[in-house]
Amino acid sequence: MSADRPHILVVEDEAPIVELLRYNLETSGYSVSVATDGDEALERVAEDQPDAVLLDWMLPRKSGIEVCRELRAKAGTRMLPIILLTARGEEADRVRGLETGADDYIVKPFSPRELEARLKAVLRRSHPALVEEKLEYQGIVIDLDRHRVSRNGRKVHLGPKEYRLLRTFMERPTRVLTRAQLLDSVWGRDVHVEERTVDVHIRRLRKVLNGEGEPDAIRTVRSGGYALDLDR
Ligand code: CA
Repeated sequence: MSADRPHILVVEDEAPIVELLRYNLETSGYSVSVATDGDEALERVAEDQPDAVLLDWMLPRKSGIEVCRELRAKAGTRMLPIILLTARGEEADRVRGLETGADDYIVKPFSPRELEARLKAVLRRSHPALVEEKLEYQGIVIDLDRHRVSRNGRKVHLGPKEYRLLRTFMERPTRVLTRAQLLDSVWGRDVHVEERTVDVHIRRLRKVLNGEGEPDAIRTVRSGGYALDLDR
């Protein structure tokens, strides 16, 4: 598990299940927040920006399915990993759950170990740095536990912002990321920073990451943004 603790929102109205989930997840190094109904869940997601949501189907007033649908309809949470928890086990329900856009579906009663394996799988797809110990791409390696970076065996010393930039790129190599996406990921959604600040830190990252004779690892995409791309 990396130094950044993945933040999980548990949405469940039954207190014993909340406590079970909280205990198990916190023991495994996750940070946990809780909502006990659908409306509170939507508020929490907006405020806390969780890395994944464990969403009970049967909730008072607004059901888990409705919450899931609403989250999928918003740009900011379209990709948020969601695992539906439910007592229903019928195949038709399962299909319905996944059709609303949940990433996975788990039937109660579940073992904490199974739940954690599923959670790790959805996080790995959406945000590898939260569950992997190392990210590697074309000779560039980030040791996420120790915050160490190397390229072709050479140690690369990065400032905190450059480290986070590189980590963001390493989670999705070759993908073009806009300045706005990089700002969200490195500075956080609530902080106001001008987009050209990104260019300044990209310049610093390039200076340290690109050793002598090595190709530029960062590709500038005109009016698009930047990509970590050595597959050219
Ligand atoms: Ca319930």
